[in-house]
Amino acid sequence: MKLTIHRGTNEIGGICIEIQSGKSRILLDFGMPLVNKSGDTFNFKQFENHSIPELISEGVLPDISNAYNTDSDINGVIISHPHADHFGLMKYLSKQIPVYLGKPTHEILKLNNVFIHQENNIEKPIYFEKSKPIKIGEFTVTPYWNDHSAFDAYSFLIEADGKSVFYSGDFRGHGRKAKAYKWFTYNAPKNVDCLLIEGTTIGREAKKFKTEDEIELELVELFKNSDCINYVYTSSQNIDRIVSLYRACLQSGKTFVIDVYTANVLDKLSQYAKLPSPLNSYKRLKVMFPYKLTSGLFRRGMDELANKFSGHKITKEQISEKPSDYVVITRPSMKVDLEKTSVAKGNLIYSMWHGYKKQPSTKEFVNWLKAKNFSVIDIHTSGHADIETLKEYANAINPKSIIPIHTFNKQDYQSIFSQKILQLNDNQVLEV
Ligand SMILES: [Zn+2]
Ligand SMILES: [Zn+2]
Repeated sequence: MKLTIHRGTNEIGGICIEIQSGKSRILLDFGMPLVNKSGDTFNFKQFENHSIPELISEGVLPDISNAYNTDSDINGVIISHPHADHFGLMKYLSKQIPVYLGKPTHEILKLNNVFIHQENNIEKPIYFEKSKPIKIGEFTVTPYWNDHSAFDAYSFLIEADGKSVFYSGDFRGHGRKAKAYKWFTYNAPKNVDCLLIEGTTIGREAKKFKTEDEIELELVELFKNSDCINYVYTSSQNIDRIVSLYRACLQSGKTFVIDVYTANVLDKLSQYAKLPSPLNSYKRLKVMFPYKLTSGLFRRGMDELANKFSGHKITKEQISEKPSDYVVITRPSMKVDLEKTSVAKGNLIYSMWHGYKKQPSTKEFVNWLKAKNFSVIDIHTSGHADIETLKEYANAINPKSIIPIHTFNKQDYQSIFSQKILQLNDNQVLEV
């Protein structure tokens, strides 16, 4: 078995792994980088109209033989979860390559095409399910369900020719699927040759992370004691967080106001889990129709995606009547709507990774609200495992060797894990 990490040995994001056995080849993830070569935020806009050969020579697309031409011999690309740093460059891959993914992940990618203007149209989706092995060429691939900030996340055991590789994907043990993580620690595969384990938090402060339940309690306390409106800036795809917000609203007598994008996400995903969705008559849940987003849907003839929530609509005027009753999902594109909502003061709950605060649009949005008498309150926990969890996970598998991936600090693995560490570079071929 031959293993090549095309990108991800020395950075977080842009993950692309290739495994070959005999004539079979598979790709694991095909992500968009989060940083450029100098370490600054990667801005895809500057590459948008470049051709595939240009993107390869610029180091944006990995240089993989037969990945982009129509008669590709790659047996499949497996997507671990719906975060762009794991799927974001997929639209460039040959449409002949079957895409293996969870069904909810495909639903999220389809919503992204509409709401975030991505173009990931998958012609050959093949859905896998947790713990059910599938055959791809000579490979047997078994997905394991992960606790992560993305809704539908997996790790994978890849076996062929008597050898095995385990790829952790992105995971944690302190979210709403902590039970899935615990289950894994008792049922992890054994005799694995190589474990590719993510190390997002390696090199950061080594402390135990807050659980999502603790986040919910913090929100309840804040909402109970606030006599003003609460705006929340979070990812509408961080379903654990959306659930915490909704539950905290119920416990504190507030009404949760989601925008039409979040409403569509919850509506789609509520087929797969018990989630608050306006169409399933959850109480204290209202839908706001931000001008930019809603007019965009109508302009593109997608009225139905807005209209189906019209029975649950709340207006800016209604919110303005008694602002302290509401917790409202907001983001920079909703400035024009927030301007028309009359509130004297408020809280902005910042509920995402603190690093995004440095992005110009976020910075400007936060400062704009501060100038309007808003207090900024950080309430967040990571989507990734803390150090103790990483160790427990690796010990549960106890592989012959560990390969760092999805990390800026591969040199620190040796001091954390007791197993042998193999530090690879991007594009280095390893014979497993
Ligand atoms: Zn990631
Ligand atoms: Zn992720």
